[in-house]
Amino acid sequence: MKSGSPKILLIVLAILFAGVVSAFLLVYMQFSDIPINGNWIAAGFVISLATSLWILILTQLFVLSKISKLHKDVKTFRKKGGQQQIKIEYSSNEIDNLNLEILAWADDRKNEIERLKKLEIYRKEFLGNVSHELKTPVFNIQGYVLTLLDGGLEDPSINKKYLERAEKSIDRIISTIGDLEAISQLETGELKLEIERFDIVALTKDVIDAQELNSTAMGIMITIPKDVVPIFVMGDAFRIRQVLVNLIVNSIKYGKEYGETQISFYERGGLVSVEVADNGIGIPAEHLPRLFERFYRVDKSRSREQGGTGLGLSIVKHIIEAHEQTLNVTSTEKEGTIFSFTLKKG
Ligand code: ADP
Repeated sequence: MKSGSPKILLIVLAILFAGVVSAFLLVYMQFSDIPINGNWIAAGFVISLATSLWILILTQLFVLSKISKLHKDVKTFRKKGGQQQIKIEYSSNEIDNLNLEILAWADDRKNEIERLKKLEIYRKEFLGNVSHELKTPVFNIQGYVLTLLDGGLEDPSINKKYLERAEKSIDRIISTIGDLEAISQLETGELKLEIERFDIVALTKDVIDAQELNSTAMGIMITIPKDVVPIFVMGDAFRIRQVLVNLIVNSIKYGKEYGETQISFYERGGLVSVEVADNGIGIPAEHLPRLFERFYRVDKSRSREQGGTGLGLSIVKHIIEAHEQTLNVTSTEKEGTIFSFTLKKG
């Protein structure tokens, strides 16, 4: 029996009560005509001890039955909240169990509140970023349109130029909305992957061809090994195309003029690893941990100037994670960057 346990407390209380009754009897005998009788005092002690013990035990049983119900209610409540159960030793007393359960429950609530606070901060940041991303091109369009309305339309030196600039801003809004849609579908799990067997080499060649205009404009050569044979993988070809487009477009946007982007394929175990390596501006090491966050840009002005939304890598990460595969980046400033991801062999 632990000291301070309800049983000890009960016995101590009963002895105290019996002691008080015996002392009262003694004092009463002393101040009255009744001679002091040890047997009477002992009998008084025993009777009051037994009575108080009996009353206290009944009270304790009653209280424990209430606490036990409370304990069960707290446990059921936690279970319904989907929280993990803690193991309770039923040989120990109910008050300890209840205490443990309440502490664990409070801990769950605390973690939940912290998670919700983080989500709230993230939500505010995200909304701020979205409105900032959209505000800039909208204000630009407003500026061009107002100038054109104020007489610019008749001025051949600016009318076409301003309309083209307004169109560029509209393109930026469309890209941002498209990327935001893709992110929200990937995050809410609305988007179901359509896994199929396809040739990743053929898909890569297709993406390279589609980007030829962009790459030649920068004088960048995109290469894949000459002797490469078809490699079949399992994945959602449409989404993997999106991954390849984002990585290859980035290698052009952040590449150096007349640079090179090399794409390689490695087969290891049951996996195929696809590597996109450029010899461009590179990424300083301190930026790498946050690179895949939404709207995170290293070279902000270059990204915006090239029509970047800051969402491309975040989409890449979501797609690869949805395939339960890995995505890696290594980079050296002014030397280049290598992105690689894996896919299951088909
Ligand atoms: P963005 O639309 O700005 O290109 P991304 O999410 O695709 O957005 O990339 C995030 C940031 O990572 C870019 O703004 C750029 O600074 C950096 N980055 C991405 N790819 C490369 C690369 N191949 N070389 C250097 N920097 C890169």
